Amino acid sequence: MTSSVTDLIAALGTGIHVDGHWRDAASGATFDVHNPATGETVATLADGGADDAAAAIEAAGRAQPGWAAVPSRERSEILRRAYELLKERADDIALIMTTEMGKPLAEAKGEVNYGAEFFRWFSEEAVRVRGDARRSPDGNTRFMVTSEPVGPCILVTPWNFPLAMATRKIGPAIAAGCTMVFKPAELTPLTSLYVVDLLREAGLPDGVLNVVCTTSPGGVVEPWIDSGIARKLSFTGSTPVGKMLLEQCARGVLRTSMELGGNAPFVVCADADLDTAVNAAMAAKMRNMGEACTSANRILVHRSIIDEFGQRLTDRMAALRVGNGVDDDVDVGPLVEEKALAKVDGLVGDAVSRGAQVLTGGSRVDGPGFFYSPTVITGVAPESELMSTEIFGPVAALIPFDTDDEAVEMANDTEFGLVSYVMTENLDRALTMSERLQAGMVGINVGVVSNPAAPFGGIKQSGLGREGGLSGIDEFLETKLVAIPVR
Ligand code: NAD
Repeated sequence: MTSSVTDLIAALGTGIHVDGHWRDAASGATFDVHNPATGETVATLADGGADDAAAAIEAAGRAQPGWAAVPSRERSEILRRAYELLKERADDIALIMTTEMGKPLAEAKGEVNYGAEFFRWFSEEAVRVRGDARRSPDGNTRFMVTSEPVGPCILVTPWNFPLAMATRKIGPAIAAGCTMVFKPAELTPLTSLYVVDLLREAGLPDGVLNVVCTTSPGGVVEPWIDSGIARKLSFTGSTPVGKMLLEQCARGVLRTSMELGGNAPFVVCADADLDTAVNAAMAAKMRNMGEACTSANRILVHRSIIDEFGQRLTDRMAALRVGNGVDDDVDVGPLVEEKALAKVDGLVGDAVSRGAQVLTGGSRVDGPGFFYSPTVITGVAPESELMSTEIFGPVAALIPFDTDDEAVEMANDTEFGLVSYVMTENLDRALTMSERLQAGMVGINVGVVSNPAAPFGGIKQSGLGREGGLSGIDEFLETKLVAIPVR
């Protein structure tokens, strides 16, 4: 099904959804959503504030007991229907996503499939919540260990994967029986609004999923944290904001899940299969125009192959077509906003000023829109800013290394620890490296590790907890012990 994007956007909710109803902001305030490929305003939404935040969390609190009592099979079936609706409407959702975020339509469709899978996976997990029954070691007590929903949850998502970052949280929250207040990113709220109506169509009861869009995130999320109603915050976004929210959550000892920033090393060993390595590097670097927490930020290449690897990567990058993501022949869309473009340009400028050579790209592309040319730079000096900063753009930075020890040391020389990639044909080296790399996830000869059936998350300052996989639902469950004496 495809429709005109104007009609699709006109049919979306206002931006604030409380107790099953769309409403305007209590203050009457609104904000505009822009298309990063054209700079045009594509929607005007309600701009929520403290009063709207209060209404949303109170609705989530009221709905919690009834929702927790709904049989898991019913919750599972709502998710299953929502999965099917997402698949049926993939073209429409992809069009909305590309319009607000910029990624090419083919990638947006890929994200709809990926995002929908979280609903399918958690529809299957909902009915398989595990418990435990045992005797105490002294034989005097029976332990019955059960799981209960954590309670009302605060969900906060970034702009780079507008659908999947939402379904990765909403799916397990529904499966576990938690109600929600949800604040999508202000740059890309439209995809989330579509999902809210789709979930209602799938049978989600009023009050379970409440949404507040806002340009003052702190003015909505902090009152939720301090409400005394919310029991958990699940956040995906940057490390500085995550740290601030952790401090706020400490006040009420809220449970937290934190999916934060990355600075992924991509290690190409001398024995790598170069076709595999270049394909994986393209995927790890260019997925989402480089605007991904998993993006290969530092491409460490053995000195003996750096010239050949660099040439092959350059040929592939130079062949990519940049443009408006709704056009058929486009591989690389715009960055999300001017600030992002300026950051990428600044990081490349800094690396070049410290001796890096540009093999292709290295400059902005004329607008309108926030385009940057696919770029490869080589000979990047270790003190360059991009070594410690998420580039979040289509820039592949090549850094030479001589030994495995040196590669591991450089790879781990960051406060982040989300994902690392290793390209090698040697099994022993692959396993040893994967053990030594400080990361929550390691990709061996592959450029994408994300899968709803696998645990996604980082160590160090990349976060706390895991989304997806077998542990994803646990983030939304509390463990309860019932102790019964043996008489
Ligand atoms: P961001 O931290 O600026 O914003 C993320 C969300 O937090 C948005 O909804 C934003 O409105 C909200 N926010 C901002 N200030 C807030 C405040 N004071 N109080 C409460 N909420 C606030 O990040 P971003 O620019 O939207 O996203 C990019 C970042 O997200 C990158 O660092 C990227 O690595 C990270 N990310 C991580 C993962 C992961 O799974 N680890 C996935 C995607 C993105």
